Amino acid sequence: VDSTHLQKLIDIVGRENVLTEPSDTASFTTDWRGRFKGCCAAVVRPGSAKEVSEILRYASTHRIPVVPQGGNTGLVGGGIPDATGTAIVIALTRMNRVRKVDVLNDTMIVEAGCVLVNIQAAAREIDRIFPLSLGSEGSCQIGGNIATNAGGLEVVRYGPMRDHVLGLEVVLPNGDILEDILELRKNNTGYDLKQLFIGAEGTLGIITAASVRLYPRPHVTATAFCALASADDALSVLSMVKQRCGSRLSTFEILSKLQVDLVCTHADVQSPLTGSTPWFLLIELTDPDKDAPVEELLLNVLSDAMESGMVADAAIAQSDSQKESFWAIRHRVSEANVATGRVLSHDTSVPVSSCAEFVRQVESALKDQPSMQLSFVGHLGDGNIHAVAIFDRDRVSAKEFEVRASEVSSIVYDITRKLNGSISAEHGVGVSLRDKLPGHKNPVELELMRKIKRLMDPENIMNPAKLVTLN
Ligand SMILES: Cc1cc2nc3c(=O)[nH]c(=O)nc-3n(C[C@H](O)[C@H](O)[C@H](O)COP(=O)(O)OP(=O)(O)OC[C@H]3O[C@@H](n4cnc5c(N)ncnc54)[C@H](O)[C@@H]3O)c2cc1C
Repeated sequence: VDSTHLQKLIDIVGRENVLTEPSDTASFTTDWRGRFKGCCAAVVRPGSAKEVSEILRYASTHRIPVVPQGGNTGLVGGGIPDATGTAIVIALTRMNRVRKVDVLNDTMIVEAGCVLVNIQAAAREIDRIFPLSLGSEGSCQIGGNIATNAGGLEVVRYGPMRDHVLGLEVVLPNGDILEDILELRKNNTGYDLKQLFIGAEGTLGIITAASVRLYPRPHVTATAFCALASADDALSVLSMVKQRCGSRLSTFEILSKLQVDLVCTHADVQSPLTGSTPWFLLIELTDPDKDAPVEELLLNVLSDAMESGMVADAAIAQSDSQKESFWAIRHRVSEANVATGRVLSHDTSVPVSSCAEFVRQVESALKDQPSMQLSFVGHLGDGNIHAVAIFDRDRVSAKEFEVRASEVSSIVYDITRKLNGSISAEHGVGVSLRDKLPGHKNPVELELMRKIKRLMDPENIMNPAKLVTLN
């Protein structure tokens, strides 16, 4: 970006909000794991949709690439500029106001730069919840959550981010502001344009605000940790819990034995169950009614599951600290895996009914991989089980890891495709999976995505070469 461009950006947002020194821009040009590294001409921090609009109008006229960035917790490189140094990063951090809370309507209007935990806290203040819950919630921003259609731990009950969005304010690449930010649950007046931006990973426009749904705040919780003999049994338990507990089911997570063992070894956590069954479940029920007998319900369902042989052993948390210790096993998975070796995680989904088959096929296809362990962890209730390959750091060099990782991923993705699944359940495509998309997405669908991109962003300035390439 030449000095005229820089001066224009300074005129729009103020000198203190245009960063150009490498020491100031470094944290915006690499991700927290150091997997994606880029370079940028400047980081610009607008304070309003109007400023975003002026920036994009200028960038469009001068064909300056623009990379929107939220909390920079994304896992697929979508928020990191490329290495050319030509792009400007638009950081939404300053746009962090809750504009409106409507208790009777169970809605909130929030600016894109609001950090997820702050939105959760604002909802709790009025005895509601905003149910998106991610390991990154202390840093990720709602704009990033919407742009990635984030998932997380309670999708089985509340759905992914898309289900919580009622309206969006978006600045289009030409600078126009799309104000589709009504707080309506019903609005049948044509194409639902806001949906285009949810999961678009910043390739069609910059989200500056959203109206989101709130839900009743749960006042009772029952949490169980169960041991099982097979993934098929886990599916039977899921079906039973869904039938008998209905919308009280808020979490249904699965972990393989290796995964639980690794957490217990590396993360100073203890499993509540001993024994050698190959699978574990973390199940949680919640209810807004403080007198709802959720614990009794969970106990009854699990007793029946044990009687019919689906569950080998189970523990129900008897205190908050016990509940936290069950959850610690799930929350500390990434830390334990990184401590074990070189980690290759997959974020695939298949129909829930095909999850056991997915696990069987992946186990069988990867069983002879040398110096590699395979664990499974994830959201069984959503059909989203992460197959995690962990390579022995002493035997597999960083270079060899790259080659092996690519082979292993191809195997996992082939199985996913054959089971009518998706290669990205919740993390998005970014640059990590961009080149794999053509092999896994219907060509008609992919071409329509390209046509939409060309139509809305004719100069190809919005996060270019992320998600889809145009040729
Ligand atoms: C420890 C940890 C746990 C995680 N757990 C989960 C999980 O359980 N489920 C899950 O789905 N993800 C998870 N993630 C991934 C990540 O947190 C989510 O993808 C999150 O939604 C990204 O939000 P962000 O604000 O950090 O976005 P960023 O990383 O800054 O950006 C992500 C993408 O969104 C675009 N973008 C950001 N803001 C805007 C905007 N305002 N307008 C338009 N485009 C924008 C960027 O260009 C980029 O393409 C986890 C990450 C970490 C580090």
